[in-house]
Amino acid sequence: MSAARKSPPGAAGIVDRARATLFGVAVGDALGATTEFMTPAEIRERYGVHREIVGGGWLKLSPGQVTDDTEMTLCVARGIVGSGRWSLGPIADRFAQWLSGNPADVGGTCRRGIEEFMEKGQLEAPHDERGAGNGAAMRVAPVAIYALGDEELLSRLAVEQARITHHHPLSDAACVSLGTMIQRGLLGAPPRDLREAAEELAARHPEFRFEKYDGESSGYVVDTLRTVFDAFFSTDCFEECVVRTVNRGGDADTTGSIAGAIAGARYGFDAIPRRWLQALDPDLRGELSALAEALVRKSPLFAGT
Ligand code: MG
Ligand code: MG
Repeated sequence: MSAARKSPPGAAGIVDRARATLFGVAVGDALGATTEFMTPAEIRERYGVHREIVGGGWLKLSPGQVTDDTEMTLCVARGIVGSGRWSLGPIADRFAQWLSGNPADVGGTCRRGIEEFMEKGQLEAPHDERGAGNGAAMRVAPVAIYALGDEELLSRLAVEQARITHHHPLSDAACVSLGTMIQRGLLGAPPRDLREAAEELAARHPEFRFEKYDGESSGYVVDTLRTVFDAFFSTDCFEECVVRTVNRGGDADTTGSIAGAIAGARYGFDAIPRRWLQALDPDLRGELSALAEALVRKSPLFAGT
């Protein structure tokens, strides 16, 4: 196993991990939506350990149904792939179209930002003290895949996509850090390189310190990332990382989808429990798969090859 890690995965391996990243968002969302807004004690009492995609939750979802976390991630991916290049307009257009369809769940900051775009065509929300929610971080995975091979490009694009709705330094920093971790996972980097990205974030913004974090798992991007990092770095497989995350309750669909993205990049497609994949809608599976491959092919690592 360690010998295999020494050389980075080839194109097929990277596409596999990119698929796992986007599927990770969807299965983490579908699993976590059940326990969203519950406390860990309530989850324990009701499920023991929650590890099956059964739907329900406050949104009364059917099993396998996904929410805004996956839907907005799809908007970002479709915007990039559909326009064939980096352009915020096509991404924001898809957000607007999505919001116009009255989604079951939409965060307040996302709604405000999208409505401003719809009214004024504004692609950057004004700086907002309340803008440190996790709504931009939850949809950063496609940007990480698209900018693969260029961490500086990633830093710029991750912030640009974030600011369509969220304009706050902690959200910006979280998006860059998550994107960097996903990219390193996709490239087969050793776990310490992923940890380094999380530690750099905590060094710049000590709020994000995550060692032995057992506080709230809320929609505040700091709580969200501390929850996800704690789970990711204290487990050694996809399933346990996501299970540990969503059993913390709180904003569990969002923490679940972020954990799924990082763990997908790190562990690859085969590591995702088959029963979770099968719970997803077949059309969604097909689209996630095609988008992941298209994003990889457009990345600096592969474009023109
Ligand atoms: Mg959601
Ligand atoms: Mg949520």
